[in-house]
Amino acid sequence: MIASELLKKDAQHIWHPLTQHKTALPPLAISHAQGNYLYDHEGNKYFDAISSWYTCSYGHVNPALTQALKDQVDQLHHVVFAGMTHEPAVRLSEKLLSILPDNQEKLFFSENGSTSVEIALKMAFQYHFNRGEKRLAVVALEGGFHGDTFGAMSASGLSVYNGPFEELLIEVIRIPAPTSENMEIVLQQVEQLIAENDIASFIYEPLVQGAAAMQMNDASGLCRLIRRFRESGILSIADEVMTGFGKTGSHFASSQIQNRPDIICLSKALTGGIMPMAITSCTQEVYDAFLHDENSRGFFHGHTYSGSPLGCAVAAAGIDLLVSENIQEGIKHISLSHAGFLDQLKQHPAVGDVRHCGVILAFDLAAEMQRYGNERNLIFQWFWKRGVFLRPLGKTIYLVPPFTTTAEELKFLYDTILEFLDSRAV
Ligand SMILES: *Cc1c(COP(=O)(O)O)cnc(C)c1O
Repeated sequence: MIASELLKKDAQHIWHPLTQHKTALPPLAISHAQGNYLYDHEGNKYFDAISSWYTCSYGHVNPALTQALKDQVDQLHHVVFAGMTHEPAVRLSEKLLSILPDNQEKLFFSENGSTSVEIALKMAFQYHFNRGEKRLAVVALEGGFHGDTFGAMSASGLSVYNGPFEELLIEVIRIPAPTSENMEIVLQQVEQLIAENDIASFIYEPLVQGAAAMQMNDASGLCRLIRRFRESGILSIADEVMTGFGKTGSHFASSQIQNRPDIICLSKALTGGIMPMAITSCTQEVYDAFLHDENSRGFFHGHTYSGSPLGCAVAAAGIDLLVSENIQEGIKHISLSHAGFLDQLKQHPAVGDVRHCGVILAFDLAAEMQRYGNERNLIFQWFWKRGVFLRPLGKTIYLVPPFTTTAEELKFLYDTILEFLDSRAV
């Protein structure tokens, strides 16, 4: 189908996510993708500088992942995961638990980041309920993003789009993300919150708050918060849907924080962008709180496609890639290059704040801008025309390139960014 025909039919039939269809530009039609590039119907190629929302970290249509999918396709596509199990799920579990922080013992499967968060929140509520405690409040970080289902949306501090639902949300108390400057004040605030509320859990994006325009928070601050909450029996939930699988330099951001979370949410790069899948992991202690002769103490939550054999097979192959020498070298190289480029960016008159963590690089333009406003769209188009796909968030431009990005490709990205900045500085 030619692109114009495709767009016409798209407009007839499809309601896109996060889109105001009255004012939005027509979508871009992508015909295929390969490695680090997207291709349109005219054969133009675009470097995927955000790994398609942080999913395809090993490059698009990665041969090892494709092969894992093909192998599984001939075996078993789907089976009920309540009362049944299968080899790909067990294979994935062993691999994943061998790289997760070592206090994680059990895995609960679902299909997307929001449900992994929903499950984490429900696990924490019921953990307390099963122990005879009524705890109904959640503590979350300001500016956090955890997804679009009700619980996840409630925990998200970016409430600009939550207006119609505000009165329906669960009770969430927000604290500032810890930094070396505000730590003592935040800890005081937390003391008071603990004294005045029955808090079930503390949810946070470790090290990098993605949707808050890649705001970076302090590992030692989070470490102290986790410890303080633990002292009061409050479960910590690390939402690693974005940060998981190598993006912060380590396999998980939580690996860089000494105190371990009780629960971890995973999705996005879990399957390298091939299958929608998510996992909520937890400690033995959390799991044990659901063991009882009474059925109702169990966790009665389930999604039809839980533990998809296809997803599990691909995710297991993804972990093999993640721990491979090639990919680990790639992560190190990108991280080091980013650090060098950051020094250059800092000097530029058109640039405000700059930050970097692993393969994630972000900088603010020295200007005020709406999150998805007109000027932001013009920047998007400027880069698109030069063969780079990135999605600025307001005045923040950020890169989360695939781990397979080469030195030449990084140079191309950096040069394109500098060209853009120079065009603003004059
Ligand atoms: C993307 C994201 C989610 C939501 O995941 P979906 O798969 O889009 O539902 C939750 N938390 C974080 C940190 C995310 O980046």
